[in-house]
Amino acid sequence: MHKKLLEQVYNTSDFNSNGHILIDQLSSHLEDKLSASSRNAINWNEPEKELEFWKKFLTNGDKKDLFLEITKRTTYVHHPNYMGHQVSPPAPVTALTGLISSLLNNGTAVYEMGMSSNAIERIIIELICEKIGFDDTSGGFLTSGGTLANLTALLSARKAITKRDIWNEGNQNQLGIMVSEEAHYCVDRAARIMGLGEQGIIKVPVTKEFRMDTDLLESKFKEAQEKGIEIFAIIGSAPSTATGIFDDLEVFGEFAKKQNIWFHVDGAHGGAGIFSKKYKHTLKGIELADSVVIDGHKMMMMPALTTALLYKNVVNANATFSQKADYLLTDSEHEDWYNSGKRTFECTKNMMAIHWFTMLKLYGEEVFDANVTHLYDLGAHFAHLIEKEPNFELALQPMSNIVCFRYCPANMDEEHINALNAKIRQSLLEDGEFYIVQTKLKGMHYMRITVMNPFTTDQHFKALIKKIKSFATR
Ligand SMILES: *Cc1c(COP(=O)(O)O)cnc(C)c1O
Repeated sequence: MHKKLLEQVYNTSDFNSNGHILIDQLSSHLEDKLSASSRNAINWNEPEKELEFWKKFLTNGDKKDLFLEITKRTTYVHHPNYMGHQVSPPAPVTALTGLISSLLNNGTAVYEMGMSSNAIERIIIELICEKIGFDDTSGGFLTSGGTLANLTALLSARKAITKRDIWNEGNQNQLGIMVSEEAHYCVDRAARIMGLGEQGIIKVPVTKEFRMDTDLLESKFKEAQEKGIEIFAIIGSAPSTATGIFDDLEVFGEFAKKQNIWFHVDGAHGGAGIFSKKYKHTLKGIELADSVVIDGHKMMMMPALTTALLYKNVVNANATFSQKADYLLTDSEHEDWYNSGKRTFECTKNMMAIHWFTMLKLYGEEVFDANVTHLYDLGAHFAHLIEKEPNFELALQPMSNIVCFRYCPANMDEEHINALNAKIRQSLLEDGEFYIVQTKLKGMHYMRITVMNPFTTDQHFKALIKKIKSFATR
């Protein structure tokens, strides 16, 4: 009886026929979205209604509609009117590599459970390290997301910089990190997980241009020291998620060197700029970092989650989770690079390296330059359109494909402008033709786009602006 059910589960001919149907469905999903023959970027549904639908579906739904319903009831990241959160519309071939990874299920943590993916991962890591400007002592690994990568990097930093053996003895004194007040919330979360508490997160205010105000670095550092806080790391955003603004990595690097602390770059979004001839200047100073995070699933056309965490000195990657104190560690040559689980948070990890490798093999590294450069150019173009519109305003001059703006008619006070922009964004969501997001900067409500789809054009931008105007005057 049990055996029969299990035989059904593993039936290869079902896999084959369902697979062919699914690929056909997903192909037409892509064709519709890319040509925007379907109107909406999102078919918005209230959470309670969506829950109700799936409860009913589990009991009464037709099995053969399952995949199609899932596909329909999502946000269409491949739609050119999708300009919301910073996940990529994955290159279709990486959906196929995702399928390989899921079916083979090689856990990757030990070499024997992922021979190809461990070897491939090393090739990817070496390429990225070289692009950053690191030398032969560098190294790293792929891991499940920027959030986890930032936490891992801060654990490495603590191990490398603090004087005590915290891994064995626990936190002994108040430790701290320095970060811009506009940094991604996951940095704050990582610090709290590590037991730093609120007092251990030294938030440095930003300038009018939303960059961390580096003039305050020395005084903030001293102030913390006087309170008995041992600062072990400074984190630069490249760029900050909310604003799209890059911190001055060169200044951070020099400061970290002078104070003998760790310099971490959160390049989850914009780290991919190392591949862009036109925009790599946004990352000037990244080569000074002790560690760098770059998400493959944001600007590099891959499916979630796949993140590269790179170290200037690979010894620090090997040390993070080691029981041994820092000074007992052997140099990198003796560490077996092919057992990646020693360095990662994950035990079982999917074969994420194959997405990167397939992109490289099929399209060459210039594909990353093409994507980043084109999307940043589109961000600049959208900002230009906003500047020409009478009742619109940019929050700041964009440095990437993230653009924050608002509708602000003359003779309206701030409070009403905030309410109006929140209302417009909600109307856009419910309407569904476009998908954009929103953010609060210095107490002001902004609409926010991230151009993620290389097939978004001037026409799509103009249609969005037109729609915003029509909602605003309604
Ligand atoms: C997206 C993002 C993160 C979080 O990365 P995930 O891969 O979503 O976990 C962290 N920092 C920055 C700057 C980001 O843009």
